[in-house]
Amino acid sequence: MIDVKNKHITIAGAARSGVAAAILLKRKGAIPFLSDTGEIRSDFAEKLHKESIEFEENAHTEKAMQGDFLVMSPGVPTSSSIAQSYLNDNKPVFSEIEMASWFNRSPIIAVTGSNGKTTVANWMHHTWTTAQKEHIVAGNIGYAFSELVDQTDENKDVLLEVSSFQLDHIDTFKPTVSMILNITPDHMNRYDNDIEKYAASKYRIAENQTSDDWFIFNSDDNRVSGFAKKLSERENAPKMMAFSTKSEVPNGAFIQNGQLILRLDNKEEILMDIDDIALPGKHNLSNGMATALAARASEIRNEHIRESLRSFEGVEHRLEFVRTYNGVKYINDSKATNINAVWFALDSFNVPIVLILGGRDKGNNYQELESQLREKVHTVIAIGEAREAIKNQLKSTVPNLTEAETMKEAVKKASKTAKRGEVVLLSPACASFDMFENYEHRGEVFKQAVLEL
Ligand code: ADP
Repeated sequence: MIDVKNKHITIAGAARSGVAAAILLKRKGAIPFLSDTGEIRSDFAEKLHKESIEFEENAHTEKAMQGDFLVMSPGVPTSSSIAQSYLNDNKPVFSEIEMASWFNRSPIIAVTGSNGKTTVANWMHHTWTTAQKEHIVAGNIGYAFSELVDQTDENKDVLLEVSSFQLDHIDTFKPTVSMILNITPDHMNRYDNDIEKYAASKYRIAENQTSDDWFIFNSDDNRVSGFAKKLSERENAPKMMAFSTKSEVPNGAFIQNGQLILRLDNKEEILMDIDDIALPGKHNLSNGMATALAARASEIRNEHIRESLRSFEGVEHRLEFVRTYNGVKYINDSKATNINAVWFALDSFNVPIVLILGGRDKGNNYQELESQLREKVHTVIAIGEAREAIKNQLKSTVPNLTEAETMKEAVKKASKTAKRGEVVLLSPACASFDMFENYEHRGEVFKQAVLEL
């Protein structure tokens, strides 16, 4: 932690977290300067004027390089000229959550992973609400940590969704409970296409934890459990809890004979039948167990956990049920922006599927879906820039491979081929920016088209 009073601090990236960071720093007596290579949204600019915070847009000028240290928005890569300039000058570079954590007074429950962070953060929010335990939720959706950190106190928990970009530049950030849900390829362009580099940034979530803290991990993920083993051998290591859908764990949560079992401190208890968990899909069993363990680490009672696992209905754009039309279920999974998320989406259904796939390709290998596609998907409707790649890679895998210019056309085509009892699933495996503003917009357009059928 650095005393920020009267320090000149540059913040790179002026979207929600960057703006929140600048305002927090200003209130703590620093002299923030916000710099963005793009245009700053007018409502953000207005906010900055109101707080008398200086900023620049469309370029990082020399002034931006002159700060005592740099605070990075998660959207700005380490390879950017501004980060490189500070690193070359041996000046500190911190992420937004690192800086916010200097002012934190609450226990932090932090979740990271390639997929499921938002689901688990929201599931925890639901659990904490069910248990009437005071908390705030911050991170990727809703509020930046910087916006809420002044509301923290020791009687409140902070439930925090943390990306690898935020973890890249931590220093003293120390969660009381940390969680790694899984590690599969995503955002590889920011890690020199090296999965070990990407994984290493996720592991940092535990680097400052000590023996009073908890580390919760997915033991079905070989890479993550390998890390957990190493971590447990570290001096002053955090206490460990694992979860698994496949096998028993020494301490944590697992599934046996259709029941969710908690085994903690050598005491075993059946929490509930897994059929009573509202959310479908094996990945949501993992997410539910992670949530349950985080709740136990935070001394929430089983009855509240059980109730919360029963009643949580999920988050918009994540395997979200839209409507049944002519006996066909329409599911919006617009947030599935990588192959692994689509794999789990397909795994969640045991009826034939019409899949809408595509968007801005991230160098995907669609063949990784082959077994699921062969088993369940009779039609793929390809959209967006990825159409050619999808057609080339899947032509011998999927019986009916077609394409659509717009989402509306895709939904219409899907409704013509799907039969009663089947599912139409939007789970694109791609970014949305070729056709939409963001994944939320893509999901909204899909839902609208479905409602208009
Ligand atoms: P994140 O915040 O990490 O991006 P989300 O909860 O928003 O994760 O889910 C992103 C996508 O991944 C959705 O399509 C969702 O259905 C899928 N997903 C959620 N949890 C998991 C998981 N544990 N493993 C694999 N895919 C998951």
